[in-house]
Amino acid sequence: MSSTLLSRRDLSFLLYEWLDVCRLTERPRYAEHSRETFDDVLDLAERLAVEHFAPHNRAADTSEPTVDGGRVRMIPQVKAALDVFARTGLLAASMDESVGGMQLPHVVSAAAFGFLQAANVSTSAYPFLTLGNANLLLAHGSAEQVDTYVRPMVQGRFFGTMCLSEPQAGSSLADITTRAEPQDDGTYRLFGTKMWISGGDHELTENIVHLVLARIPGGPPGVKGISLFVVPKILVGPDGALGARNDVTLVGLNHKMGYRGTTNTLLNFGEGVHRPDGRAGAVGHLVGPAHQGLAQMFHMMNEARVGVGAGATALGYTGYLKSLAYARQRPQGRPVTDKDPTAPQVPIVEHPDVRRMLLAQKSYVEGALALVLYCGRLLDEERTAPDAADRERAHLLLDMLTPIAKSWPSQWCLAANDLAIQVHGGYGYTRDYDVEQHWRDNRLNPIHEGTHGIQALDLLGRKATMRDGAALNLLLETIRATVSRAWKADGEAAELAARLGAAVDRIAATTRRLWAGGDPALALANASVYLEAVGHVVVAWMWLEQLLAVDAAPSGVDPDFYAGKRQAARYFFRYELPRTGPQFDLLDSLDRTTSEMREDWF
Ligand SMILES: Cc1cc2nc3c(=O)[nH]c(=O)nc-3n(C[C@H](O)[C@H](O)[C@H](O)COP(=O)(O)OP(=O)(O)OC[C@H]3O[C@@H](n4cnc5c(N)ncnc54)[C@H](O)[C@@H]3O)c2cc1C
Repeated sequence: MSSTLLSRRDLSFLLYEWLDVCRLTERPRYAEHSRETFDDVLDLAERLAVEHFAPHNRAADTSEPTVDGGRVRMIPQVKAALDVFARTGLLAASMDESVGGMQLPHVVSAAAFGFLQAANVSTSAYPFLTLGNANLLLAHGSAEQVDTYVRPMVQGRFFGTMCLSEPQAGSSLADITTRAEPQDDGTYRLFGTKMWISGGDHELTENIVHLVLARIPGGPPGVKGISLFVVPKILVGPDGALGARNDVTLVGLNHKMGYRGTTNTLLNFGEGVHRPDGRAGAVGHLVGPAHQGLAQMFHMMNEARVGVGAGATALGYTGYLKSLAYARQRPQGRPVTDKDPTAPQVPIVEHPDVRRMLLAQKSYVEGALALVLYCGRLLDEERTAPDAADRERAHLLLDMLTPIAKSWPSQWCLAANDLAIQVHGGYGYTRDYDVEQHWRDNRLNPIHEGTHGIQALDLLGRKATMRDGAALNLLLETIRATVSRAWKADGEAAELAARLGAAVDRIAATTRRLWAGGDPALALANASVYLEAVGHVVVAWMWLEQLLAVDAAPSGVDPDFYAGKRQAARYFFRYELPRTGPQFDLLDSLDRTTSEMREDWF
């Protein structure tokens, strides 16, 4: 099957020729797997995406969910597709066999899920959220919570949500006010309002499992007083039977620019509309120890952040493939050297400027896909590397790369969607083609799961300085190891290695310079510029890695594919990496233009 969702050839290259994922099958956890089972899962996901997710992508956008008498209505194709998805067992692909999973490497299941995100990002958001919820309960919940909530989620009977944000507390979760009052029977009653909750209400499944951040009265202020609770929409008995409605009420749906098929809700907890045991208050169960909620949530959020990057990549990727197909068949104009007006028009792909737009997209989306799969591979290393030091190294490197893997695709695969519209000319600006919807859908990604600015503060303020710079040093060492390999490979790889090596030195020098004065306000004033510069260097590294894998490919096989990879690597190094020079210069100058701008000067 060949679709315009993701390139299967590229996935095979990245997974097998570059990341060598088949070696993972030597480890006990993955011993039942082989390249055949990996390919079967990718085939299954692509078929599911093409046959059940893509066909209603536009309908889910134009006929967004509505509320009717307190009940959410949406087009039936969403549930139909998700029911098929549940039967495939793909939700639990990377989970333990003991909970009904397949123990597939995370990197392979992320690649498979990419097909669904490319086909229909709003329908795929329901299982995406459910997976994050289930993984969090598997990591921090009790055995009883796993039995009660995770198993039905794995079976597709329940879906999950993540309830962090409140109307007055988005980026600053320290300011949440939802409270959880302890009860004599060990449960809690929750009271408060949660804003922006994706998948917060629907009738796609029998039940909805909310994971809610709230404060237990008397706890410490700020983030240290936040705890995590599991709060089902419908209470579940000890035997798993569904009972009374919990006191969780849908106040309304938000009307979004994109991602419209995913319900986005304002929820009230404890309003008293439903009264379990005759009393107001949403019944909740504490997950893990009290006051550890934010740390537990971050465990999930790191995975979710790389998942957001993967979703942004998938949207960029499908837009690229669609604009490429369009450019190959749209006749318009003639080469600048051909003055004969009677000569047939050429397809627009013949024009260098259109090739520039296609090459830019190719370099962004294939670079981003490499980055998110590299992070997926690190997650597998973190969990299963035989040596504890390797597991720790993978953990640290993944921590460092997470804000980049979230933000870089969210920025540059959105830019790819912008170029995909441009390649379509006027047609791209209409709803007759998919690319405008991809752009609108993708526009969410720099906002949710921590905005671009918040990721920048995380990268420069926390990750680059933690453990005396150990994570940053590990990243730089790892990139330098690629640079050394490329030096030895000689030829074009060595030439690109010289430029990458110089860019890595600038990251080290600029980070030192920013923190030399020990003034966080000054250091962090241009954190977004830092995030963008370091992100571009990291993606240049991904391109050099790919170039080395191309060098190792058998000659004569699939020459166009490998030539395309080389050209995209060249493009990235010639057109994109040089953008970082002025960014590092600005950072090194400790520029205060933004911090000195006064509010009343606007
Ligand atoms: C469609 C959608 C789905 C969502 N799904 C969920 C969900 O399922 N669950 C959930 O809990 N939340 C969800 N969110 C909420 C999302 O995570 C928040 O919107 C996001 O964290 C930003 O919070 P905010 O909207 O309050 O913006 P604000 O925090 O008010 O930020 C506004 C602007 O100010 C900047 N800013 C804020 N603080 C700082 C700072 N300290 N330094 C520098 N800049 C700063 C931000 O970067 C941003 O540009 C969703 C949001 C949307 C739009």
